[in-house]
Amino acid sequence: MRRCEPNALVCDKCGRRYPVFENRLRCECGGLLHFEIKSIKNLTSQKPKIRGVWKYKNFIPIPKNAEIISMGEGATPLIRLKRIGDMLKLKDLFIKLEGSNPTGSFKDRGMTVAVTAAKAMGARAVISASTGNTAASMSAYARRAGLQAIVVVPKGKIAGGKVSQLALYGAAVLEVIGSFDNAMKKVLELSERYRGFYLMNSINPWRIEGQKTVAFEIVEEIGVPDWIVVPVGNGGNIFSIWKGLNELRSAGIIENLPRILAVQASGASPIANAFQTGKYADISSPSTVASAINIGRPVHWERAIKAIKESSGQAVAVNDDNILKSQLDLARSEGIGVESASAVTLAGLRRALEEEWIEKGERVVLIGTGNALKEADQIPNRFPLNILQSGEGLEIFRKLGGEM
Ligand SMILES: [Zn+2]
Repeated sequence: MRRCEPNALVCDKCGRRYPVFENRLRCECGGLLHFEIKSIKNLTSQKPKIRGVWKYKNFIPIPKNAEIISMGEGATPLIRLKRIGDMLKLKDLFIKLEGSNPTGSFKDRGMTVAVTAAKAMGARAVISASTGNTAASMSAYARRAGLQAIVVVPKGKIAGGKVSQLALYGAAVLEVIGSFDNAMKKVLELSERYRGFYLMNSINPWRIEGQKTVAFEIVEEIGVPDWIVVPVGNGGNIFSIWKGLNELRSAGIIENLPRILAVQASGASPIANAFQTGKYADISSPSTVASAINIGRPVHWERAIKAIKESSGQAVAVNDDNILKSQLDLARSEGIGVESASAVTLAGLRRALEEEWIEKGERVVLIGTGNALKEADQIPNRFPLNILQSGEGLEIFRKLGGEM
């Protein structure tokens, strides 16, 4: 690819030219400066094409003549984590930044497909239980489709950014006491009683079909990594990713499959526990700072364990202290802002390296499921704002500003 190289910094007023890399914001005459660009014939280096989830429509079932309800979801950045990767002595470490989706989480991938299907099948309202991200995504896509959204959420256990999204989209919100698991129970009852309500939780198979496309994007961009590290709450995402990868292998597009590391929060880790002990048990009162994966009775637990086993993978639980430390590390070492449920991936990766499940020199992709702004209300309490006091402030100015 050709690089666009600016020829010069040019003054708007007098036309005087300066070297490009001079730290200068104004001309000596006081005029503002602009870059003079040597233009290249084509605006972009590639022909325009469909990006994101619907690029893979050969692999996505869809009702005939359905109107696609989309907001350009998918095509999220796969970002190299060079500092952390070098520190952990990995060959390559990436994070798939799913927080860049339209409503700030990976849920949009499945929702575009499921809401498209719901509308095509004549649903009047869509309903889901949620720890917040599903509800936010469903509310947005429902509005776009002209459908009513009804969300059932655990009272007081949803991150502020997600509450804001529900308020903005005007979803009908039913609060239940207890955890997500109680909300899930309620929503199953409601969707059985009211036939016009279309259930949009991840047990809805259309959701899985959109969510699996994250695996397609990773493989297209870097081939098959050694490991994919997935945060696990209800287990729907790990199942989706594994389904997508297997479809690519069946189609002859890839030969090998990556191994899957499933990471849960230790206060809500029925799947990791079952994987390690060989015996599954619900957790009746799940509790973790990572609210998006605070689930004690995951619907997809059998599917999740099957995916981990088939991939010769591993499952691990990490505690809240390590989750928050990882959230901070991603932000401060790499500039990557994720919600705490996504930060479990880095904490889990560290454990997997200690246990020597993952070896130095391997290529690893973390799935960063949700944007940091989802927790905009909680983050300043976890990591206080760095307000400069006069003495300390002056010290930073002196040290970094080069002033005597
Ligand atoms: Zn000038």
